[in-house]
Amino acid sequence: MWTSENRPKSKGEGTRGAGGRGLISPRHAKALRGCWNSLFPVTCSLSPVLVSCLLLTAYGLLLLARGMFAASGLYQVQEVKSKIFVWVPDDVIDQECDPQFSRAATAGFILTSDGVVVVDTANSPFHARELLYEIRKRTEMPVKYVINTSSAADHMLGNEVFTDEQAILISTMTAQAEMKRYRQELFARFQAEEGWRLQARMRGFHVTPATQTFDGDMTLTVGDREIRLVSLLRDETSSQNAAVYVPSAKTLFLGEFYDNHYFPRIGSRDVRRWIEVLRQVEGWDVDTYVPGHGAPGSKKDLADFRGFLEWLVAQVEIRLREGKSAEDVQKHLSLPKTYAWHAPELAAEDVEAVYRQLGAQQAPSTPARSSGP
Ligand SMILES: [Zn+2]
Repeated sequence: MWTSENRPKSKGEGTRGAGGRGLISPRHAKALRGCWNSLFPVTCSLSPVLVSCLLLTAYGLLLLARGMFAASGLYQVQEVKSKIFVWVPDDVIDQECDPQFSRAATAGFILTSDGVVVVDTANSPFHARELLYEIRKRTEMPVKYVINTSSAADHMLGNEVFTDEQAILISTMTAQAEMKRYRQELFARFQAEEGWRLQARMRGFHVTPATQTFDGDMTLTVGDREIRLVSLLRDETSSQNAAVYVPSAKTLFLGEFYDNHYFPRIGSRDVRRWIEVLRQVEGWDVDTYVPGHGAPGSKKDLADFRGFLEWLVAQVEIRLREGKSAEDVQKHLSLPKTYAWHAPELAAEDVEAVYRQLGAQQAPSTPARSSGP
């Protein structure tokens, strides 16, 4: 950073004023004094030194305001329960990351008497360092565990930051296998034509899969906290995601299972079973549901999200029975205003995903299209 002592002077830049205190030229100071005097007709004599001081103060305030904005403008940290924090990024499309995962996922951290447990690490080491910075503002305790709720890159690309902290990285077995596959596929994408663009965007990234896995459920006791890791949806088509339940705080981190006012990535996840699982967790002794994207929500917020999936299934089902094509449905299905959510580009993908799933399930009994000649 340039200081006033070592920065080079540009051509025509003002010399220091009397006593070496000012940063503007005497000529500019004189002009400013003229302006000041014209604004305030009562003659007041201001020396160039005083004008300089006023300008420097204003400049300092401006820098301070910019600093405050930079520190608070891209994410928020909410303490949802005592010593349970949620890191919520703003809806920003990151340029320095994998473009397939350009929105950072919501993450969190739990402070215990014996160390810190992190839940998800966002979509880049950069964001993970923000997370670590927020942890270090509150404690110097070691980060003991990182739990990846999902193998999705927007939830785990910051893992490497916590290996520096010697944390154990935990995920389900299938999620770990998928992280390793993602690493291989990413390497292939780097080698492909135009791969240099991706390399430039992801310079300094080191994909770091989980180092420890669990199958089914697992309980971690860390200091004074009991933390349960639960596999909620197990099927052949999608990897097991983990939910992180803190019973003493009635808080449940749902990762990709729940997005709050964001359209989800449905992909190959069985949407009907997903709805069932959401109904189940709505019945748990929980009052704070931490989503994969968006801010923490209540039971009602979770029910609203489930309501979207149910609405989507019902709408697509009707149109499937009418024999509409996937393109037709995507084109003509209009979203109610209540679903003016973030990540709108995923809405069309969601329609397509549900159409594909329901179409495959109904294939043997799909009615014939309206009769023709
Ligand atoms: Zn995500």
